[in-house]
Amino acid sequence: MSWLNSVRNVLPFVAKRETPENLWHKCKGCGQMIFTKELEDNLYVCPKCDHHDRIGPKIRFAQLFDEGSCSELPAPKVPEDPLKFRDQKRYTDRLKAARTDSSEQDALINARGAIDGHRVVVGVQDFGFMGGSMGLAVGEAFVRGVEAAIEDRVPYVIFTASGGARMQEGILSLMQMPRSTVAIQMLHDAGLPYIVVLTDPTSGGVMAAYAMLGDVQIAEPKATLAFTGRRVIESTIREKLPEDFQTSEYYLEHGMIDMVVHRKDLREQLGTVIGYLSAREAA
Ligand SMILES: [Zn+2]
Repeated sequence: MSWLNSVRNVLPFVAKRETPENLWHKCKGCGQMIFTKELEDNLYVCPKCDHHDRIGPKIRFAQLFDEGSCSELPAPKVPEDPLKFRDQKRYTDRLKAARTDSSEQDALINARGAIDGHRVVVGVQDFGFMGGSMGLAVGEAFVRGVEAAIEDRVPYVIFTASGGARMQEGILSLMQMPRSTVAIQMLHDAGLPYIVVLTDPTSGGVMAAYAMLGDVQIAEPKATLAFTGRRVIESTIREKLPEDFQTSEYYLEHGMIDMVVHRKDLREQLGTVIGYLSAREAA
């Protein structure tokens, strides 16, 4: 018997868990307990404090696309563990664990679909998969998403969520920054829009590459958006930074993004933006 179980049996106030683990969700914004079902019905936005919870590709596609229109693109094959990297764990073991947890191949998933009747290709980065980090697989998926958009002559919409470059792939992960930039240029050369939706959190090499190159820059409320962390900047410039520094609202106020959109309005807003930008194409 473990120490915890023996203590639990002795102490009357440490009750055994009777409710299923996933029935309740503790909000990361206000700390209150919310019914998981209620949170789900509210698009994973806290009904008490409006905190936008992080969501992965599957849920995002379901929230965004017109019913029955979603078809996922296959995950691209890329060389795995090119540097035979190992820290406390082997990189291959970390990948294996992340794949088991998420049932996805890597941190960026693309799908074709329609938003409010407008056909698009959407890429969603999954922060749950190794912090949404950008390595060969994410870079390749980004390029494939753009290529699919060009093939269909539709906009490419990316939902970013990332801690930055995937350190286990060293310089190869950094090479995905210019690669994704070239892909965006290909989209522009084809006369197609590139729309970015920044979600919590987006940072590092992703923020310094495709996350800030959108023709239209949208962000979800109160998302943390940064290149470098707050503490690093504070200790470098030896100054206290404003409270709302590196949030969506701060970026909007300083002209770095076009709009901050609540998740409940996102689908409609994206539909409107895509409608404007695709008017000429339709004509
Ligand atoms: Zn809350």
